[in-house]
Amino acid sequence: PLFRHAEFYTTVNHIKDLPQATGVEIAFAGRSNAGKSSAINTLVGRGRFAFTSKTPGRTQHINFFQLGEERFMVDLPGYGYAQVPLAIRQHWVHLLSTYLQTRQALYGMILIMDIRHPLTKLDLQMLEWFAQTGKLVHVLLTKADKLSRSKALAVLDEIRQFLSTSYSGCTVQIFSSLTSEGAEEASRLLQDWFDE
Ligand code: GDP
Repeated sequence: PLFRHAEFYTTVNHIKDLPQATGVEIAFAGRSNAGKSSAINTLVGRGRFAFTSKTPGRTQHINFFQLGEERFMVDLPGYGYAQVPLAIRQHWVHLLSTYLQTRQALYGMILIMDIRHPLTKLDLQMLEWFAQTGKLVHVLLTKADKLSRSKALAVLDEIRQFLSTSYSGCTVQIFSSLTSEGAEEASRLLQDWFDE
């Protein structure tokens, strides 16, 4: 992994508790079970924590990890569970939309989608909130190992076309945490974003 030393920084459940912005933040978002934790683990070496730990009560938290001086990876709560109560959903909407739309330190968003189930309603919601900021989005179509090569490339093409008309600041690639396909490309992009 490109970022070997990642340290847990803080966890936030309310906008008012966001840490003072002291660097560049890159957010990771995605539907629950899309493969976000696995993708993060592929791209970021484990420090003194495990990204895959999933305490249910923590699912609405925004977790900050420090990757270097003034560099933060921001793990946004997964979405799309069918059984989430309305109050929790409303809290999620407020937390996510406010963070994405107003966070100055936020440079861009990595949006994780299962290549077999791309562009869910809430994925589109995330893009819509973020589009207003004019910031960059990079989509990882993960679990690409689950599809044949030709099918994966066809989905990539389809998603790229859709996004080119609906979100001009959006790029997309194939990814797999199982085979590490696309890990280098994604790492390079993260590095570029942090360096800009
Ligand atoms: P999260 O809820 O988005 O953080 O998803 P996880 O990273 O926990 O992954 C959900 C499930 O998908 C787990 O069983 C993973 O082992 C599996 N998974 C994640 N990424 C991949 C991948 O690239 N390929 C395959 N075959 N399975 C994956």
